[in-house]
Amino acid sequence: MKFLVAGAGLAGLNAAWGLQKKGHEVIVLEANSRVGGRCWSEKLPNGAVIEHGGEFISVHDHTIRGICAEFGLPIVALGIPFDRRHQVDGSFPSSDDLTKTMAKMSDAAARLAAKNGYAISLREVAREAFGPEYESLPYCQKLFATTTCDPDLINGYAVAAKMQREGFEYVEHRGRVMAGNDAVAKEIARRLGDSVRLNSPVVRVTQTKTGVEMETAGGEIFKADRAVIAVPLPILQKLIDTLDLPADMVKAIKGRQMGAAVKLNIAVSGDAPPRGVQAPNAPWWSWSTADNGGDRQRGALTAYAGGKKTMATLGLENGAQAWLEQVRAYRTDVTVSDDYILTNWAEQPYTKGAYSMPGLDWQPELDGAFNHAAGNIAFAGEHTHFASLNGALESGARAAKLLTLI
Ligand SMILES: Cc1cc2nc3c(=O)[nH]c(=O)nc-3n(C[C@H](O)[C@H](O)[C@H](O)COP(=O)(O)OP(=O)(O)OC[C@H]3O[C@@H](n4cnc5c(N)ncnc54)[C@H](O)[C@@H]3O)c2cc1C
Repeated sequence: MKFLVAGAGLAGLNAAWGLQKKGHEVIVLEANSRVGGRCWSEKLPNGAVIEHGGEFISVHDHTIRGICAEFGLPIVALGIPFDRRHQVDGSFPSSDDLTKTMAKMSDAAARLAAKNGYAISLREVAREAFGPEYESLPYCQKLFATTTCDPDLINGYAVAAKMQREGFEYVEHRGRVMAGNDAVAKEIARRLGDSVRLNSPVVRVTQTKTGVEMETAGGEIFKADRAVIAVPLPILQKLIDTLDLPADMVKAIKGRQMGAAVKLNIAVSGDAPPRGVQAPNAPWWSWSTADNGGDRQRGALTAYAGGKKTMATLGLENGAQAWLEQVRAYRTDVTVSDDYILTNWAEQPYTKGAYSMPGLDWQPELDGAFNHAAGNIAFAGEHTHFASLNGALESGARAAKLLTLI
């Protein structure tokens, strides 16, 4: 059978690779001049590998860990806890504190949902859990940064329930691919060979009686029996207007919220141990991590801010200098240079945001909306499964399976 895949991020690539391994003919249409999408690595002038986008691979991320093992790509431990961040005064929550705090969130979400139904915002849940001072709590700063969306517009029950699942059997040792996370995307693309067409943005998808058609911005028409659509949420929300989809899928796609985030990767030097530090009273943090040997610091420090409101306070309209100075003030443990790479995901034309969260009108049954195909089309991407590198890969495998089962 012949397949089309729109989008060569981890989701689209893994779908295409799964189909190719089953002997199908596949063409992947990618808008950008590179593969990987939000999985995108680069080197700073001092040689340190940095991630523009997805970075932390958790111990539970079995799919990406399995693929890395198959490709011979080592994953190295970062040496910092992702969820327990130092404050600038040096204080540090214990894992017991964190577990109790997360339990307060999910209990509050359950209480509110029992009273008012599921349409409750993340802000309402945080206020219910921690009282009027919630915004100044480091835990809420971390939560609002990580969810990247307006806390009034995302579903507090879905976010709290997800955290509860993640927090269970809490393990800290996250890692990254030694060569850069995008080595995974590049290796899948290498295996796909000429099937991947770069600089080919899909502008229209049509379901015909016998198959699917995709038209690119250059006016080329591609025809196939079946297709996977794995483009980011804001692009998908427009692309589906010409498609006839089940109501639950439309609701899951249209109701989901895309977040915004920015990363500042800076070359640093120093011998201090790796550390993640939460900025005081603001949803951004910075981390220095272990080098490939695991016992020294890598020559890069990364600052990460989540949510448009926080990003607006960083003076980014004039470049990264103001933020860089704040990082310098809080990170006296390292020598912060002037060599940096700033990546504002809200401005990336083929992503238009960072990653997505369930909107206010989320209902539990919407979590299953992409577990079936819509005729001869299946959807993949973080927005259809889980907002992570691993989630994107799993969604691609699911889409390939769904289309070959019809
Ligand atoms: C700042 C940031 C930090 C993150 N941190 C982490 C982390 O620490 N750990 C983690 O696991 N995850 C993290 N993530 C999330 C993770 O990176 C994503 O969930 C994952 O990479 C998404 O993969 P995807 O294939 O769904 O989408 P994408 O990677 O966005 O792939 C979609 C592809 O579609 C292409 N495209 C767009 N429009 C079109 C079109 N019209 N036609 C054809 N192609 C098109 C895009 O160019 C892109 O290549 C982070 C993301 C960001 C932005």
